[in-house]
Amino acid sequence: MASNILSSPALTFELVARCSTTRARASNLTLPHGPVQLPMFMPVATQASLKGITPQQLEETGCRLCLNNTYHLGLRPGQEVLDAVGGAHKLQGWNHNILTDSGGQVGFQMVSLLKLANITEEGVRFLSPHDGSPMLLTPEHSISLQNTIGSDIIMQLDDVLVTTSPDKERMREAMERSVRWLDRCIAAHKNPDSQNLFCIIQGGLDLEMRRECAKEMLARDTPGIAIGGLSGGEAKADYCRVVATCTALLPDLKPRYVMGIGYPEDLVVSVALGADMFDCVWPTRTARFGNAVTKHGVLNIRNRQYANDFGPIEPGCGCTCCRTGDGGMGITRAFVNHNASKETVAAHLLTIHNVWYQLSLMREVRQSIIEDRFPAYIREFFAGLYASKTEYPDWAVEALRGVGVDLMSE
Ligand SMILES: [Zn+2]
Repeated sequence: MASNILSSPALTFELVARCSTTRARASNLTLPHGPVQLPMFMPVATQASLKGITPQQLEETGCRLCLNNTYHLGLRPGQEVLDAVGGAHKLQGWNHNILTDSGGQVGFQMVSLLKLANITEEGVRFLSPHDGSPMLLTPEHSISLQNTIGSDIIMQLDDVLVTTSPDKERMREAMERSVRWLDRCIAAHKNPDSQNLFCIIQGGLDLEMRRECAKEMLARDTPGIAIGGLSGGEAKADYCRVVATCTALLPDLKPRYVMGIGYPEDLVVSVALGADMFDCVWPTRTARFGNAVTKHGVLNIRNRQYANDFGPIEPGCGCTCCRTGDGGMGITRAFVNHNASKETVAAHLLTIHNVWYQLSLMREVRQSIIEDRFPAYIREFFAGLYASKTEYPDWAVEALRGVGVDLMSE
């Protein structure tokens, strides 16, 4: 009994099932605001709300853990407002779990895009994108903001470099600094009994550096572990190698979060490689461009072909837009098409559908792992996405072969 459960003060991890072929796992994670089932996708609610949908609608998708950006919450409306209202859960009317990023992302984007920031041992110095005022985000400040926000999972401030950077020396500096910053985050963390601090493994595409970083991070014994710095334009094959290298080193009884991942194929392959948690703005962002994520790929409902299509966004979908009975709206493609270019309602409807799709995909993946038919599920998933096997992406075929699933065989 005890061998598949590990508890830390604010988190309990229970390994429920393991795929007998791949490295996939199904597990239950109990956080301060209730249990969540892994593997899972976490939608990103930027401004304390998922653009266009209410907390109630988010709840109806089955979401029990969403991501908030520390920059948007902690720096605006700011710590005073959050203190007065009693944290982000109260501010948003969201009684389920929240994960916050470190807030460093904004600074790092400015480093890479605009050269308007610099990173020193002290922290990340950048100009506020709102009013141009100089800001310094340190590990201590990041944790203080996240303590005020009261999120169930908080992330360490790390030194992130795009994985494609050719500067090995700088990559090593960033990796080693991330370890030192984790120590500062742990020391600054005021609520380890109610908030879980996750470390972030860095090291770019260098597998040896990733191993070294993982070893250092694991020695700090945080309740959960993230693999960071990916989805920055690296080749998918490289991405898979990094994830597989890291998961092989991680303990069984801790959650493994790969940051910034959200394309359905990436999710399914990453689960096979042993990852449990993912987040990405893509499903909600793409909804605002009229795109519906479905098991047959992404459909742009703005296309004329849908103007007189009175079917649901996705046949058989259980989301509140698509389903007809049981309080569902029975929305048609024609309706979304008609509204897509002028009304925000279309974006709201597609957001609900897309978030549901992502969560439902992970629920199906989980069920197939529990019933030990995940390899068959992967085959069905790819067969739904592509007209023929010749279209399957090489990186996915290769990565899955590495964990015992050959999509090309019968
Ligand atoms: Zn739907």
